[in-house]
Amino acid sequence: MISVRNMSKLYGDFVALDRLNFDVQRGEKIVVLGPSGSGKSTLIRTFNRIEPHDSGSILIDGTLIDDKTNLTQLRCMVGMVFQNYNLFPHLSVVDNCTLAPQLVRSLSRKEAKDMALHFLRQVGIPEQANKYPIQLSGGQQQRVAIARALCMQPEVMLFDEPTAALDPEAITGVVSIMNTLAEQGITTLCVTHEMAFSRHIADKIIFMDRGRILEITPPEEFFTTPQTERAQNFLNQMI
Ligand code: ATP
Ligand code: MG
Repeated sequence: MISVRNMSKLYGDFVALDRLNFDVQRGEKIVVLGPSGSGKSTLIRTFNRIEPHDSGSILIDGTLIDDKTNLTQLRCMVGMVFQNYNLFPHLSVVDNCTLAPQLVRSLSRKEAKDMALHFLRQVGIPEQANKYPIQLSGGQQQRVAIARALCMQPEVMLFDEPTAALDPEAITGVVSIMNTLAEQGITTLCVTHEMAFSRHIADKIIFMDRGRILEITPPEEFFTTPQTERAQNFLNQMI
């Protein structure tokens, strides 16, 4: 599904991602862990080309991601949910969800609305459809952001610390939605410190440090017997 070969990303002279190599199978759930500044956000952002990589290759579903990639098509295929929701403040919840599908997927207003309501039901907030983002709690806004991404019917979902700005109760709700999506088989790359997701839902943990991947292992191995000292130290600080 995703194939990364010798992929590097620089900010000026600074090597943010250093010759990464890995594959993600269709339907796999990957959690990216690592210290602050290790390159986790940069890595997942290369997949929808918010951050273009500088060398090496990224192949997603047979499509090479480079400067010739059609960004609209790419971002239909690869959806993203951010820490701070990034909803359009001047649009209602339902319009946040229907805008892109109408523009990009050429759905009619009715088709787009039916789909939005379907996904708003799935994330548990159909009754909020006509409100504006500012009228919602953080947890509700994050659910809208997830529903909005799902309305593009992406093949891959990227999550960058989706629960970081939420209170504990809202975190549980959002993690349970992510679990449901995971069960539906959508390929997922997620930067998160949520143990409930990392330990029990992820198929693999990618552990990064200073722009490099130090470990790619199933969570049961990573959390019990990390192979590198760097990961051991990281885990000691996490607990
Ligand atoms: P955190 O856990 O704090 O979110 P991260 O692992 O997501 O960290 P990145 O945001 O990917 O880390 O950043 C990786 C490195 O690249 C950091 O050293 C950061 O300072 C640097 N960096 C990120 N974005 C830029 C940018 N736009 N310009 C210059 N340097 C950047
Ligand atoms: Mg980050």
